[in-house]
Amino acid sequence: MQTRCRVPGPTGIVAVTETQFIVVCLNPRKPCSRAFAHGRFAPPASFATNPPIRLVDLRVACPDAFVDLVYSKPDNVFGRVLYQCEHAWLLDATAAKLAVAASEARAHGYALLVLDAYRPVSIQRVMWDLVPDDDFVAPPSRGSAHNRGAAVDVTLATPDGVGLPMPTEYDEFSNRASHDWDGAPSEPAERRAILRAIMERAGFSAYHAEWWHYSDPDHVGGPVLDIVPCCEAVAGAAPRDAGGGSPR
Ligand SMILES: [Zn+2]
Repeated sequence: MQTRCRVPGPTGIVAVTETQFIVVCLNPRKPCSRAFAHGRFAPPASFATNPPIRLVDLRVACPDAFVDLVYSKPDNVFGRVLYQCEHAWLLDATAAKLAVAASEARAHGYALLVLDAYRPVSIQRVMWDLVPDDDFVAPPSRGSAHNRGAAVDVTLATPDGVGLPMPTEYDEFSNRASHDWDGAPSEPAERRAILRAIMERAGFSAYHAEWWHYSDPDHVGGPVLDIVPCCEAVAGAAPRDAGGGSPR
């Protein structure tokens, strides 16, 4: 189990519980990676200058939203499974904003459907090797807000979680995915605008080239992370835990 979860590079220390993982990076300016240590964790005093980074499982932190991670299945634009787990993670502060957005979506008769969230930078590297177009895939040398746990790809769904038609499919790498594309039928175009209004009111920033991508402007400058969530370590976070204690 340890080997499957390990990412080389002694750049940080990680603790994981069933519903969150906490990272302390040795150097916040470099990608931060280390194998999981399962269980409770207290940062050593020598790491006190680097505040811990807390990523939370959206099933717990944002139970109003649905999660369907496109990259955990082979039928995505990259044509391969990139995530071994179906858990979606975000920084705790970013997840709190998403919870606000999910609640507002419910008030409008919709639900949010999360398609991608935190993404380890090693996965970003795989994506970049396949699609080296920085309009649609951030180069791993720079890192994406996804690599910092500060971005989410999201769409509008019915209240029971069925994704609704939008101007394009997710990950259509063309100018039709832009917020500015005016060729979409009226209902998908209206949903694109509703989603944007909901997300921006909750504190997210839209990205002009992708109607689905929203980042948290308060955290896009954080450390790039390369922690690969370990399915075994989070396997205890079954849906029955979703109503349990809040990680915040
Ligand atoms: Zn995105």
